[in-house]
Amino acid sequence: MPNTLTLALSKGRIFKETLPLLKAAGIEPLDDPETSRKLILATNQPDVQLIIVRASDVPAYVEYGGADIGIAGKDVLLEHPNAELYEPVDLKIACCKLMTAGRENESPITGRIKVATKFVESTRRFYAQQGQQVDIIKLYGSMELAPLVGLADRIVDVVDTGNTLRANGLIPMDHIADISSRLVVNKASMKMKHARIQTFIDQIRSAVEEQNND
Ligand code: AMP
Repeated sequence: MPNTLTLALSKGRIFKETLPLLKAAGIEPLDDPETSRKLILATNQPDVQLIIVRASDVPAYVEYGGADIGIAGKDVLLEHPNAELYEPVDLKIACCKLMTAGRENESPITGRIKVATKFVESTRRFYAQQGQQVDIIKLYGSMELAPLVGLADRIVDVVDTGNTLRANGLIPMDHIADISSRLVVNKASMKMKHARIQTFIDQIRSAVEEQNND
């Protein structure tokens, strides 16, 4: 929409940690996505709306113009290496690490390693860089289970405290990438709504700096 700024983001951790940054940019949603069933949330600014989408759908919404701006984890963006998007700001929120993990007391692996993950692209790239041939099994959740039931030798997942791995007898192994949420911008919107979007980017960038200087 020509005069509206549409921001795509997901519920949960990213939404919660983004709120203070939006507030610093003068934007406050009029509904709480945790309690509202609305997928489009109006804000205190009549020309700014938020759309609530699955974290892994943010790149598609922004790349194809369903939203002008999005907030997506680097883990998700790494799965879309060819997406036509600008990525102007590291928001330094929802920080974690993309890692391989395996059983604490695993027996030696013979043959090709089987790796279960939802991060297929990052996993493929990581093992290719290591010169290691692996069989990747795409899963959509509870990756920790895979090595416990013999579905896979390793998993690739995002790790924060490591508690989930430990609770399941797994240990973190290789560090693949540092992850945090990023601001992404649709390329056409950046041209067509340049002044509005540039002001938003500047406000968010200063809010991030301020938050990290505390
Ligand atoms: P942990 O603190 O390592 O036990 O993390 C618990 C689970 O939360 C992990 O298995 C991840 O699936 C998820 N998780 C942790 N940090 C993030 C993050 N920044 N973004 C998305 N998922 C996360």
